[in-house]
Amino acid sequence: MRILVIEDDEILRDGLAAGLGLEGFEVDSVSSCADARAAAATQDHAAIVLDIGLPDGSGLELLTEWRRGGAKTPILLLTARNLIRDRIDGLDGGADDYLGKPFDLGELSARLRALLRRSSGRAESEISVGSLTIDEACRTVAIDGEEVALSRREYAILHALASRPGHVLSRGQLEDRIYGWQEEVESNAVEVHIHKLRAKLGRERIETVRGEGYRIARQ
Ligand code: CA
Repeated sequence: MRILVIEDDEILRDGLAAGLGLEGFEVDSVSSCADARAAAATQDHAAIVLDIGLPDGSGLELLTEWRRGGAKTPILLLTARNLIRDRIDGLDGGADDYLGKPFDLGELSARLRALLRRSSGRAESEISVGSLTIDEACRTVAIDGEEVALSRREYAILHALASRPGHVLSRGQLEDRIYGWQEEVESNAVEVHIHKLRAKLGRERIETVRGEGYRIARQ
């Protein structure tokens, strides 16, 4: 899932991008309010990790601005450990969660998964579609209880499709989910991943909707 990280501390930002990448997120990262506005205007992110102290303004202002504009993207604030006021203002301003610095990367990614689940209307960390189950916390996939090994991008595509059974996702929407800004997208990348997924999970598992895209079969 593609998320936006807004953090001006370069070491922390790079660490978040790398660490959350290993946890299966596609991460776009920026370091200022101006770049954050541009990023949010051009790309739909599944969630946003927002630092409060930024060089050209406060993350709390961005938060207020986005919520006033009707943005519903889940937002997790990174706050200084002792500033309770920031947390209160942040939650009242429309943030969905916060984490005080320094924090544990595992906790941040678990909180992000929880926010993403809730924003898609689910309470459980397991997705089931017919005989297929996905365990989000362990990032494992099984058919009739038998685990199937998937690459990171295969998992991302399957997760996107299985999160919304019955919905068709276009090739462009799937590309958005699995590639960050810096990455070159090969023209047939999604088709190649779908082909591999079908080889591993069974051909009928993913349906092609001609001229529209792909959807998960309810089997
Ligand atoms: Ca900062």
